[in-house]
Amino acid sequence: MSTLYANAHVLTLDDARNEHAGGWLLVEDGFVSDVGSGTEPESVERVDLGGKVVTPGLVNTHHHLYQTLTRARAQQADLFTWLRELYPVWARIDAEAEYAAARTGLAELALSGCTTVFDHHYVFPRGRTGLVEAEVQAARELGIRIVASRGSMDLGESDGGLPPDELVEDLDEVLADTERLAGELHEPGPGARVQLAVAPCSPFSVTGKLMEESAALARRLGLPLHTHLAETVEEDAYCRELYGCSPVEYLGRLGWLAGDVWCAHCVHLRHEEIRRFGETGTGVAHCPTSNLRLGAGVAPVRELLDASVRVGLGVDGSASNERSDLFFELKQALLVARGRGGPEAMTVRDALALGARGGAAVLGRDDIGSLEPGKCADFAVWRVDGLELAGAEDLVAGLVLSAPHRVDRLVVGGEDVVRDGHLVRADEDEIAREHRREATRFAA
Ligand SMILES: [Zn+2]
Repeated sequence: MSTLYANAHVLTLDDARNEHAGGWLLVEDGFVSDVGSGTEPESVERVDLGGKVVTPGLVNTHHHLYQTLTRARAQQADLFTWLRELYPVWARIDAEAEYAAARTGLAELALSGCTTVFDHHYVFPRGRTGLVEAEVQAARELGIRIVASRGSMDLGESDGGLPPDELVEDLDEVLADTERLAGELHEPGPGARVQLAVAPCSPFSVTGKLMEESAALARRLGLPLHTHLAETVEEDAYCRELYGCSPVEYLGRLGWLAGDVWCAHCVHLRHEEIRRFGETGTGVAHCPTSNLRLGAGVAPVRELLDASVRVGLGVDGSASNERSDLFFELKQALLVARGRGGPEAMTVRDALALGARGGAAVLGRDDIGSLEPGKCADFAVWRVDGLELAGAEDLVAGLVLSAPHRVDRLVVGGEDVVRDGHLVRADEDEIAREHRREATRFAA
């Protein structure tokens, strides 16, 4: 079965950053088999895209899907205050609520052009099972790729950590459950729909021992590693007091500065720490809206890119960025980079590359993130006939600079997930209704 998506402006994000005006994309068995412009290749089916823009599917590198249940709380709080207010509320999570939350967050992301989502789940109240399985089920039903994670917290308040003692787990249980989930869910190889990462939460909620043992387990199983890092000045002060060094130095001691690791935020990095990230291959999930919402600061993305650091984008959890719109996050990344470093700090196409190719690199995936022969047929189709694009000759720049937009069509592995701006396999109104019902249990 081959399908030709024709008559489009195709942004490939390949190494040469090729763009095809009047272009086409040939898809066979869920993978891109050719892309170009001019004479169209033979195909069983031909879809005329009527001049719309095609981009690679976006890749979200940091989220907490369950947080859709607690939006718009702790509105003026910094990170630690915000966490202390929300931990006891999050302790009410169960598989039903997780499923409703995941469907909501994943649907929002799909409608913003995102085809692969990493989710960092680290709240596992005792006796509640099936949380990771619930979000994987939601992703499978909607049709988008997920990299789920078995997160963890084992450093409670009474041991000098931030989370309440009733929300922390035992180290051995965490590791055993992680290994179980990896065996049940993780698909290796190109085209994987479901993968698992190992993701202890942060330096202020996890012991050094669990960080080290998580890394050993992940490396034995061939899974990627993720954590939060250097998000706020308070975290920096906390690490200095407890560990006598900066968060980055602490991570280095634990064997966590490496090519199989990516860290969320990295707002507060010293110059030599940025260099260290580049030398060790450690990746970064840049979450500009969340960082602005919590008043945490702005990550030095231009400097990270100049140091050859892998950087992707994340919308982060919906309690610190109420909008799970990854295309909008591209624009935020561009704006904050320019706010920090001037108008030449980031181009429109650099921002798009962060959201797609950068995200794929951060997740350690070479099968997604660009439209080239052999890559997964994951792409977004954008209308260019709306009011906000009128007068924009450079359609790609017009799209990014006038974001957000609802995607017109979203294809994952050659299959439609969104068509004509609507989810193909689920009803958006029903998802929202069901979510409102579940969220009442999390009311203040
Ligand atoms: Zn986060």
